[in-house]
Amino acid sequence: MEEVCYLHPQTPAVAKCTDCKKAICEVCLKRVNTKPYCEACATNHHEQSPWLAFIFAFFVPGMGQVYNGDWQKGLVILLTGWLVVPWIYGIVDAVTVANKIRNGIQESKTVPPGYLLLALKLGVLPLSCLYFGIVFTLFAAFTGLIKLMLQLG
Ligand SMILES: [Zn+2]
Ligand SMILES: [Zn+2]
Repeated sequence: MEEVCYLHPQTPAVAKCTDCKKAICEVCLKRVNTKPYCEACATNHHEQSPWLAFIFAFFVPGMGQVYNGDWQKGLVILLTGWLVVPWIYGIVDAVTVANKIRNGIQESKTVPPGYLLLALKLGVLPLSCLYFGIVFTLFAAFTGLIKLMLQLG
């Protein structure tokens, strides 16, 4: 017996939803990151964008990893990004992983919900200013301290 779409009993199914495993027809099929979903489950996913990953990772070290669903790696890069090398690594890693997720090669560990994604998009520039503001302040304070010590010495 040929499997039919769960919404359209007259129409043959072409795929099974990745999440709820229901059989779906051509009309109901929504592809996200190359994986098949029914219309309802597709709303819980978003197409991973390497461009967005690049922008996030470039402006805020670690943010590209958060976008890719890897909070722990994101936190490590956030804390070490001022050393520059982890920051550059973070940009390359974010784009590479986002590409893999988009092509269905790798799973996102967690799918950021829509509101979080919106918060990231709106917050990227303020967060960037905050991050580099803190880094530059600490750097200026540190070099100021060294100068003072040299003068005193
Ligand atoms: Zn589904
Ligand atoms: Zn259908």
